[in-house]
Amino acid sequence: MEKSHKEKPMDEMPVMNESEGIVLFYPNIPKTAIAEVTKVLQSRWIGQGPRVAQFELEFSERFAGKGSSLAVGSGTDALHLAYILAGLKEGDEVITPVFTCTATTIPFLYMGVKFRFADVDPETLNISVQHVRELISDKTKAIVIVPYGGLPCDMDELQAIAKEYNIPIIEDAAHALGATYKGKKVGEISDFTMFSFQAIKHITTGDGGMLIIQDKNLVPKAERIRWFGIDRSNKQKGNWENDIWEVGYKYQMTDIGAAMGLAALHEFDETLAHRQKLFQAYRKGLKGISGIKLIGAELTDRTHAAWLCTCLVENRVDFMKKLREHKIESSQVHFRNDRYTILGGRRNDLPNMDAIEENYIVLPLHSHVTEENVNYICEVIRKGW
Ligand SMILES: *Cc1c(COP(=O)(O)O)cnc(C)c1O
Repeated sequence: MEKSHKEKPMDEMPVMNESEGIVLFYPNIPKTAIAEVTKVLQSRWIGQGPRVAQFELEFSERFAGKGSSLAVGSGTDALHLAYILAGLKEGDEVITPVFTCTATTIPFLYMGVKFRFADVDPETLNISVQHVRELISDKTKAIVIVPYGGLPCDMDELQAIAKEYNIPIIEDAAHALGATYKGKKVGEISDFTMFSFQAIKHITTGDGGMLIIQDKNLVPKAERIRWFGIDRSNKQKGNWENDIWEVGYKYQMTDIGAAMGLAALHEFDETLAHRQKLFQAYRKGLKGISGIKLIGAELTDRTHAAWLCTCLVENRVDFMKKLREHKIESSQVHFRNDRYTILGGRRNDLPNMDAIEENYIVLPLHSHVTEENVNYICEVIRKGW
């Protein structure tokens, strides 16, 4: 079926500068990061050194439960590593969400892993448990999930399926740092959990990522693969003749990035509280307005990490134009992955995704946005579009 898709509004709405109004994203850099990075730049270790180890340690204490954290160069690195550690090989099949950043899917192309796109749940925009059930077979070797916007997925149901088929869950939690599900932290629930520290995520290291691995037995292999396949700790003990017997790559984080990450981690409570406060302000401010619905505001068994404020709106192009007239930036941010040529290039028959494709929109939510900004945005929306 030929569908018409109006993917043009962004062409008419170039990225806004902060001086012009309320922008969609802004990096969250704590003031203390500047001094911490300076110290690193004045030291002998600027690559993967003691600060990376410290960042991993503190991150684990905070988010990993009994698992271990491995700092890497990007969230995409963390996913690629997780897919390798999960044992995925050429020809294997996985189930993965259609609605996510392309970073979730692209590593499969490098690995020759076959992916089957699962539809969204219309209430949360997370992976549809029902569709996972329909897609799963004995060929499925892993389930990949993305807590979209920062709202945890239906973990009880997904874990039950994974257990039934004895396969791992790999969680791309790039949006969900600080989120919880039934009292448990995102990071301690899935077999593998990835976080991203790309420029506009909750915490940024310029670019960077973290992989939480629950199975401790996999950690030495993960550390080797992060660094060409070399047993680095052995080498640092003076054993320079070590062999390489498995293919690794350069996935490591630098001490420069880790210094930024540590500074941001120390302020994370405030960062998260601010974002959650803004999310609640949107919830209050958008209540009762017809033609718009905030996603993920009503579930009480999980807490939202408030990375994105996503709404479903009628007449999205008009809505975006109206906001832009009032100097407010908005965007779709992510697109269904099946539309990209390298990922198939044709829209699969995914009725829930089809139904929202022309309606979802992301509103400004970050450390430079204030509650007053949100109230103003909601007022503008209330006047109609
Ligand atoms: C940001 C993001 C990534 C990629 O992380 P990088 O650190 O940019 O590699 C992956 N998945 C999702 C859902 C993201 O939002």
